[in-house]
Amino acid sequence: MNDNNNQNEIAIQRFVEYIQITTVQPKPDYDGALIFLKNYAQELGLQYRVIQIDQDRPAAVLTWLSSSTDKSILLNSHIDVVPVFEEYWIVPPFSGEIRDGKIYGRGTQDMKCVGIQYLEAIRRLKTAKYEPKRTIHCLFVPDEELGGATGMKILRTLDEFKDLNVGFVLDEGLASETDVFQVFYGDRCGLGIEITVKGNTGHVSRLIENTAAEKAQFIINEMLKYRTDEKERFEKSQTTDKPLQLGNITTVNLTKMNGGVQSNVVPNQYTLGFNCRIEPNNYNLFKEFLNDLIQRVPKENNDEIIINYVRDSGPLMLTDIEKPSWWLNSFKRACEEMKCKLNWTIFPAATDSRFLRNIGYPAIGFSPMINTPILLHDHNEYLHKDVFLHGIEIYVKLIENLTSETI
Ligand SMILES: [Zn+2]
Repeated sequence: MNDNNNQNEIAIQRFVEYIQITTVQPKPDYDGALIFLKNYAQELGLQYRVIQIDQDRPAAVLTWLSSSTDKSILLNSHIDVVPVFEEYWIVPPFSGEIRDGKIYGRGTQDMKCVGIQYLEAIRRLKTAKYEPKRTIHCLFVPDEELGGATGMKILRTLDEFKDLNVGFVLDEGLASETDVFQVFYGDRCGLGIEITVKGNTGHVSRLIENTAAEKAQFIINEMLKYRTDEKERFEKSQTTDKPLQLGNITTVNLTKMNGGVQSNVVPNQYTLGFNCRIEPNNYNLFKEFLNDLIQRVPKENNDEIIINYVRDSGPLMLTDIEKPSWWLNSFKRACEEMKCKLNWTIFPAATDSRFLRNIGYPAIGFSPMINTPILLHDHNEYLHKDVFLHGIEIYVKLIENLTSETI
C-alpha cells in the first residue's frame, strides 16, 4: 500500500472515531473528545492544551508552532453536534458507518469533517517536512450549537485566547449542491422577538372594541408582508445574472402564537414569537421598521403592546474582502491552485465567526464540500469519502499558502 492510500485510510478512521464520540447536545461528551484530541496531538507531534471556559466547557488547542512571532492562523471547529431523531436514520447516527462510499453520522457535515480535515492536512504537511512560517492553531470549541454564548463568546475574551496572537480565522461554512464552493465573509444578524398584545375582554357574543386579536392581526399582517416582499425579491432575482442567496435577504418567520383561555371568552392577551434573520447591512433599518410597526398598531394605550427581545445578535461586522491582505491573497491563491470555483456570500444562519469578526479578527467560513446535499442538522447526515478526502488536499494548499510567507 502506498503512502497516500495509507494516509487516506487513517483520515477516514480518525473521522469515524470522532463521529463515534457522542458530543451531542444537550449533554455532549466533551471529556471523550478531549482524550481523542490529546492522543491526536501526540500522534501528530502538536502541542496540546485545554482552555477551560468554565467548569463544564473546555476548548482544546492543538498547535503547530513556528519559530516566527508573526500573527498565527486559527483553524476553528466546534466539537458539539445537534440531537438526532434516531428512528429516521438508516444507520445508527453515531456509528460512522460507510455505505456506498458515504460516511454517515451526526456531525459528518457540521462540522467534525472540518476538524479532522485540518489535522489530516497537517499530518500530510508534516510528512512532507513542510515548515510553516506562521504558527497554526487548531481550536476545538464547545457549545456552538447552543449559540456560542457559553463557548466562543466567552473564550474570545480570555487571556489564553488573546495569547494565540491570531491574525486570520478559518471556520465552518456549508456544503454546496453544485461544483461552486461557498465562502462566507459574514453572518446574518439574528433577532428573536416576543410581542405581547393586550386588549379588552368579554363574552364572545359581543362586538368588543380594541381587542388583543386585532392588534395581533395587524402585527402578523405587517410582519408577513415583509416576509412576502423579501421572498418575491429573492425569487425574482433567480432568473437574473445576480441571483440573491439567503444571506442577501432578510427572512421573517412567525414561530409562536400563544393566547386564549376558553372558547366563549375574548382573549385579553396574545403573545407572538418571530424569528428574523437579517442581512447584515439591513440590521438598523430592520430595527427601525420594527419600532415603527409597534407605533402604528391601533391601540388605546402604549402599554397594550410589549416587545421583548429574546435574542438579539446586535449589528454584525463583515470581514473585508475588498482590501488586499496576506490572508485574502493566500486564500485566493490556494483556491486557484486547487481550481476551486468560489462564491463569496453571507452565511444565512449564525456561526462562531461572528464573535471573532465583531472584535476585529478577519474570519472566513469555508467547509470544502461540493456536489453534496446540505444535510446539516438533518436526518441521515453524511459526507462522501471522496469529498472528505479532497477537502484534506484543499486544506493542505490553504495551510501552505497561509503560512508560507509572513509579509
Ligand atoms: Zn456548525
